[in-house]
Amino acid sequence: MVSVSIFYRKILKFILCLFIAQNTIAQEVSFLFLGDIMGHGPQIKAAWNDSLKRYNYDEVFHPVEQLISSVDFAIANLEVTLAGPPYKGYPQFSSPDDLAVACKKSGIDVLVTANNHSCDRGSNGIIRTVKVLDSLGIQHTGTFKNSQERDSLNLLVLEKKGIKVGLLNYTYGTNGIKFSSPTYVNLLDSTLIKKDIDKAHKQNLDKLIVFVHWGVEYKDLPNSYQKKYNQFLKDQGVDMVIGAHPHVVQPMLYEKQKANKKEFLTVYSLGNFVSNQRDIRKDGGAMFRCSYKKNKKVKLKDKEFILTWVYKFSLSNKMHYQVLPCAHKKYDQSFFSNNEDYKKMQNYITHARALFKQENTGVSEGRPNPKIHMDKHEPVEIHATVPPRIISKINFLKEAKAKKRKR
Ligand SMILES: [Zn+2]
Repeated sequence: MVSVSIFYRKILKFILCLFIAQNTIAQEVSFLFLGDIMGHGPQIKAAWNDSLKRYNYDEVFHPVEQLISSVDFAIANLEVTLAGPPYKGYPQFSSPDDLAVACKKSGIDVLVTANNHSCDRGSNGIIRTVKVLDSLGIQHTGTFKNSQERDSLNLLVLEKKGIKVGLLNYTYGTNGIKFSSPTYVNLLDSTLIKKDIDKAHKQNLDKLIVFVHWGVEYKDLPNSYQKKYNQFLKDQGVDMVIGAHPHVVQPMLYEKQKANKKEFLTVYSLGNFVSNQRDIRKDGGAMFRCSYKKNKKVKLKDKEFILTWVYKFSLSNKMHYQVLPCAHKKYDQSFFSNNEDYKKMQNYITHARALFKQENTGVSEGRPNPKIHMDKHEPVEIHATVPPRIISKINFLKEAKAKKRKR
C-alpha cells in the first residue's frame, strides 16, 4: 500500500516537473498597443519647463511607464509630426522632439506614423519625423523619406524568442494634403495592401499585424468602411488588426475560424492615449495587451484591455497631463485633489466598460500591472544624428535602467 502511494507521488512529481519545464522554456512574446498620441497646443505649453528652458513630456507617461516597459514590444500611433519649430497643435501638428524622447524613455519601442496628420508639415515634416525616430532608436513604419526606404522598411519585423511578427501601417487619408516625392505615406488602398501582404507572407512570419488609421471620429461603433477593410485584411491572412483615429474606443473582437482554426483579432479603436480632448469618452483610451506563445504552433495567449484616462490638472500655476491606468488601486478617490476629476474618470470607465461588455468578443479587462513573464529587452543603441542633449538624456536613461536591473 505504502509503495503504491510512493509510486503515485513520483508520477505526480514527474508530471509537475514536465509542466514547469514546459512553461519555463515556452517561447512567448508580448505586445502592448497604445492609441493616438496627440499634441494639442495646451499640451505643448504644459510640456515647457521654464526653469530648465526646455520641453519635457516625461510626466505624461510616468504612471503607465512600468506597464509599457514590461512588454517586449510597446507600439503606439504618433499623431503629430516632429517637424521642428514653430511648434503647433491643431489643425497642423508639430510637436517638440522631446515628445518622442519621452515615448522612448517610457519604453515605447515602435511608433506608427501613417495617419491623417502625417502631411501636416509637408515633406519636411515627414522626413524630419522619421529622422528623429531613427536617431532615438524608435522603430517605425507608415511614412517614409523616399520610395527606396518604403520598399525596404515598409514591413517592420519584430522578432524575439524565436517568434517573428510583421507590422504594417496604413491611413484612410491625410486631411486632403497630398504627400509629394520623394516622401511616401501608406494609404488604405486594397491593391497596395494586397501587394504588401503577399510580400510579407514570403518573409516566413509567424504572425502579421496591421495597424490602421480609420473610422469616424467620436463614434462608439465601427462603420461599414472599417468593417469592409477588416474583412479584407482577414481574407488576406492577416492575424491582427489594430485601429485608431475615432478618438474614442471601439469594440475588440476575437474569433477562431471554424474551418482552419486560425485566430483573428480586431481592435477597432484604441481611442486617445493622450490629447487635450476633455469631453467624456474622448478623455481616455484603452491599451490592448496580448502575447503570442509558441507551442508547436504560435497562438494568442493573453488578450486584454487596460483602460487609461488623461488626468489634466493645475499645479504651481501650470497645467499638467498624466495618463493614468484606470483600474490601478493607486488611482482611487484619495489620489485626486479635486473630486470632479475622479468623477470624470469614473464616467469614462463606466462608459468604456459598458461598451466593451456589450460589444467585445473574447477580450476582457486585464489588471493594470506589469506581467511577470514579460521581461523587457535591452534598450537599442542610439545613433548620433539628433542634438547632443537628446543623446545625453537617452544615455542617462539607459544607465539608470541598467542600474535598476542590477539591483
Ligand atoms: Zn487621426
